[in-house]
Amino acid sequence: MTDIQKLIRKNILTLHPYSSAREEYKGDEGILLDANENPFNGPYNRYPDPVQKSLKAKISVVKNCSVENIFLGNGSDEPIDLLIRAFCEPSEDNIVAMDPTYGMYQVAADINNVEYKKVLLTESFQLEADRLLNAVNKKTKLIFLCSPNNPTGNLLDREQIIKIINEFSGLVILDEAYIDFSIQPGFLVNLKTYQNLVVLQTFSKAWGMASIRLGMAFADPQIIAVLNKIKYPYNLNLLTQQFALKDLDNIERVENWIKNIISQKLILTTKLKELPVIQKVYPSNANFILVKVENPDRVYKYLLNKKIIVRNRSSVSLCIGCLRITIGSEDENKILIDALKHFNG
Ligand SMILES: *Cc1c(COP(=O)(O)O)cnc(C)c1O
Repeated sequence: MTDIQKLIRKNILTLHPYSSAREEYKGDEGILLDANENPFNGPYNRYPDPVQKSLKAKISVVKNCSVENIFLGNGSDEPIDLLIRAFCEPSEDNIVAMDPTYGMYQVAADINNVEYKKVLLTESFQLEADRLLNAVNKKTKLIFLCSPNNPTGNLLDREQIIKIINEFSGLVILDEAYIDFSIQPGFLVNLKTYQNLVVLQTFSKAWGMASIRLGMAFADPQIIAVLNKIKYPYNLNLLTQQFALKDLDNIERVENWIKNIISQKLILTTKLKELPVIQKVYPSNANFILVKVENPDRVYKYLLNKKIIVRNRSSVSLCIGCLRITIGSEDENKILIDALKHFNG
């Protein structure tokens, strides 16, 4: 058992959070004269639900977990930042994370003045639990893992993830932004088994809603409670909550997008492998592919010149020569392949 209360920063434990009008009076009936809202321009005149009750109820059904295990944020970026602020004492505690991975963990750590210790993955982008556990000391509060990983696209070895969760006494944040594209299930089903596990997911990728900014953190109710305690009272606006509620009724559409993207990924992978410019196509469980080329800067600029924008990841650890390509629509992918066919080094 992890003693979550003991991991929380002292000032956060003793904090008296802001109590909003909509938190003190939760009803949606009556004459609302408590929040200095404008009586005109309904429903946008009203502050939104601070705990997003309806949205969480629907997400709990779709994700098959309890409402008490869900935190919703302004993208996954919000829980990433809040977890650091809740658990890491600036210039004292530290975070251990795998490298390469998503850049936001380090940025959020740097902003909060929390040391961020990077531990290299293997050459095949795999996680070795012992490498990370060796970097842990008494001041390590969080370990960040990402599976399928960005920018490499691979799933992390399940046994290695479990080893870290079992042997680390702080919190393990497992970012599953791309899990809907993966052949393997994620760790949401194991949430009850691992009290120190936080799973991050998002509406930005498979759900096709990057613009509405909606991210999810799933964890033990004690962890959810501390995130709720320190978040902005009305962190999710009404438009986002309404929009997501509506789209959650049409899961079939999302499932079809996922099938489409995965089948396009297979086609793109096959075609890329046939091209002389592509030296290597890395296996992917995400909605993007990492490829290796001889001269990434030249290929990047060549494509840019044709108004095809990919991500140059060649300066990232273990990713020398690599470009990251998002799976687009069938037409977009065809245009990409056609352009790469005509690249001559
Ligand atoms: C895209 C992505 C996210 C999504 O972040 P949002 O703030 O929810 O848009 C999270 N983690 C990783 C690894 C990503 O690549």
